[in-house]
Amino acid sequence: ADWVAAHGGTGDRLVVLAGPTAVGKGTVASYIRRHYPDVQLSVSATTRAPRPGEVEGESYFFVDDAEFDRMIAAGELLEWATVHNAFRYGTPRAAVERAIAAGNSVLLEIDIQGARSVRRAMPDATLVFLLPPSWEELVRRLVGRGTESPGEQQRRLETAKIELAAVDEFDHQVVNHDVADAAQKVVDLMRPRKGRR
Ligand code: 5GP
Repeated sequence: ADWVAAHGGTGDRLVVLAGPTAVGKGTVASYIRRHYPDVQLSVSATTRAPRPGEVEGESYFFVDDAEFDRMIAAGELLEWATVHNAFRYGTPRAAVERAIAAGNSVLLEIDIQGARSVRRAMPDATLVFLLPPSWEELVRRLVGRGTESPGEQQRRLETAKIELAAVDEFDHQVVNHDVADAAQKVVDLMRPRKGRR
């Protein structure tokens, strides 16, 4: 488990990208998946149903509640959380550990509760907080995407306010002005750098 010591002088091995609702985490992660094929993204398990266009095993592993319970009980999840009081999401442990053992870096795009759990499970993980350019812009993005009812939008904005206060717990902050730029900043953390650690 001493993988950090075993990989001195390299980029950060386990990088967690988290941030408040509607900040664009998913968009930045998709951009990285398309433009940086060498970056390994963890594929989460979830109990929510697939959306149109989502692919099993690529977007998520779509499982039912019984299977999710089994994964928790079997210790197969590095972390898991109930997100927006609705569905459960978790990071399969095996793929992350395999990648790290092979000397590769892995990127997790998860919520803030998940980031905190990863910090506890793997203290050497690098936590990146994606920030909106402004509060007004976050509201504009959440309302603009039109995927939530007005009541749900209100609830998520309340959550976002609380989540934004977690920014100080993170190692790095990246402002999502522009997807390509934010993606580049995240990927840069995963690349080998001289003179670190
Ligand atoms: P969506 O349902 O829109 O794909 O994702 C909803 C939320 O779940 C996002 O905030 C995303 O970051 C979070 N999420 C996705 N996978 C995981 C995971 O494995 N663990 C945790 N804790 N959150 C996740």
